[in-house]
Amino acid sequence: MINWNEIDTILLDMDGTLLDLHFDNFFWQELIPIKYAKKHRLSLAQAQQFLKPLFKRYEGTLNWYCLDFWSQKLDLDIFGLKNEIADKIAIRPHTHTFLEQLNQSERRIILVTNAHHHSLNLKMEKTQLLRFFHHVISSHSIGLPKENPLFWTKLKQIEPFDNEHTLLIDDSLNVLDSAKNHGIKYLLSINKPDSHKAKRTITTYESVTDLDELTPLR
Ligand SMILES: [Mg+2]
Repeated sequence: MINWNEIDTILLDMDGTLLDLHFDNFFWQELIPIKYAKKHRLSLAQAQQFLKPLFKRYEGTLNWYCLDFWSQKLDLDIFGLKNEIADKIAIRPHTHTFLEQLNQSERRIILVTNAHHHSLNLKMEKTQLLRFFHHVISSHSIGLPKENPLFWTKLKQIEPFDNEHTLLIDDSLNVLDSAKNHGIKYLLSINKPDSHKAKRTITTYESVTDLDELTPLR
């Protein structure tokens, strides 16, 4: 279990951890195939058939998270489409309370996300969560995705933290693997990052469904 007394720094993922991953899943898995089909005069099935392997190829790379890359690759206005459905951006249950508690506990709270700056800004504007963090870092500034273990070495150069006293909460198991490789001691996952999908069974890391299962003040 997490020994909160040992933890002085919390690295928090954004999508699927603090925010409902439904927005992103809806955007990439439902809206983009529809828009791509329309733009390129394909059936929805044809568009999906084209997009699936393409998405697979870039998974876990910085390009996967890069909206400029996808705007060009798909010839779609990705920024405009994100803005169009911005009302779907939602905070996960208990995120506010959890962040408030963390702030009271005087730990260093860092948002570390693979999100492109446009998404990050849009989400911070919609959710007003920015005030809870001492530092917000996008992997696009670092030049490597969180899935790359070297990411954490580079992160330390701009935001020093001690592996032994740091907790990372992230819904991505690949990201947790990379943080584990780097040596971050406390790792926690989210087993229901998308409110519209079933709970996942996670065996490799401890996980919670909602953030109220964590008690940082105790
Ligand atoms: Mg995530």
